[in-house]
Amino acid sequence: MAKQRPDTKAIRIQTKKTAQKEHSTPLFLTSSFTYDSAEDMAAAFTDDSLEVNIYSRFSNPTVDEFITKIAALEGAEDGVATGTGMAAIFATFMTFLSKGDHIISASAVFGSTHTILTKYLPKWGIEYSYFDMNKPETITALIKPTTRMLYVETPSNPGLDIIDIEFVAALCRQHHILLVVDNCFATPAVQQPIKYGADLVLHSATKFIDGQGRVLGGVVVGKKELVRQLYLFVRNTGPSMSPFNAWVLSKSLETLYIRMDRHAASAFELAKQLQGHAKISAVKYPFLDTHPQYVIAKKQMSNGGGIVTFELKGGIESGRKFLNALKMISMTNNLGDSRTIASHPASTTHSKLTEQERQAVGITPGLIRISAGLENVDDILADIFQALDKS
Ligand SMILES: *Cc1c(COP(=O)(O)O)cnc(C)c1O
Repeated sequence: MAKQRPDTKAIRIQTKKTAQKEHSTPLFLTSSFTYDSAEDMAAAFTDDSLEVNIYSRFSNPTVDEFITKIAALEGAEDGVATGTGMAAIFATFMTFLSKGDHIISASAVFGSTHTILTKYLPKWGIEYSYFDMNKPETITALIKPTTRMLYVETPSNPGLDIIDIEFVAALCRQHHILLVVDNCFATPAVQQPIKYGADLVLHSATKFIDGQGRVLGGVVVGKKELVRQLYLFVRNTGPSMSPFNAWVLSKSLETLYIRMDRHAASAFELAKQLQGHAKISAVKYPFLDTHPQYVIAKKQMSNGGGIVTFELKGGIESGRKFLNALKMISMTNNLGDSRTIASHPASTTHSKLTEQERQAVGITPGLIRISAGLENVDDILADIFQALDKS
């Protein structure tokens, strides 16, 4: 058979069928696995091939199916699944960074990632440096002999800053630094960082991969030898993914491509219609030609993704009024859901930061982030426009 395209693989990869020959993915909700003999049991513990399932903290067929699918979609050799996106990020830092090492990260990263970098890593003697996503030319000056990892999130949350993955990958190769990309906002349906030279790609599967706001999950994919090290860390320290969540996420991947097309089409439509609105000073969306990294977005993304942001001229107060005026769109912290979500970081998730700290991560007072859902786009637009009238 001809090589399958990724959107077919997302649907057709199934690693395990039981004797029942079920059509849909089976759920192996079991903490451990049994053996036919003492000899088989002894062999399971000496076997390095990991072909035998022993205990679901180590491996589980349902979790393996999810990993196999996401690795295929990202063009990766292998992967490790974790209980949350943060567990994937933390496991990656803990596996590849040691005391005395240095990590360079974009300053525009997810809030909890920022907390790990600034509060926890220094506790274990791991140094970090931040660079501005809009100034990738400043990275080289930050590289030290101890630099082991470059960490980026593209597009970033919530600023939608974009970095040229091919550019940073070349820099990392030259200096023998691991390039880790958080691909949560794009998903492999839109962007495959490994194709551009990333060493490891990770996700909060909680977002677009689940796509329906049900479960938490995380995953890291990359080359076999790197994944093997990560696998041993996760296996021994325990942030493993639950088989139930893996089952949900594996089924979700079957609709990822059509969902991302619809999320992106609606987000792009919102971006176009909101541009020039009297209450809005700026709209940001990767595929709008006014986006500062529009050319890079067009090069490495197949569409602009499902998130659009805009800046209300009235600042913090307008942001609050806008959220309160919404009738259909949900006010919640998640994103990448079938239901459209609005958030106002300055008065919620990032309210504890100073104005200056917020500016540094791209959060302005009137910034509204919309995660376009799968509803009819006209209903999404109608709700946003009526709320803008009251903000
Ligand atoms: C949500 C998110 C995370 C954290 O994932 P959890 O599943 O909530 O632990 C990491 N990176 C980005 C970009 C996110 O949006």
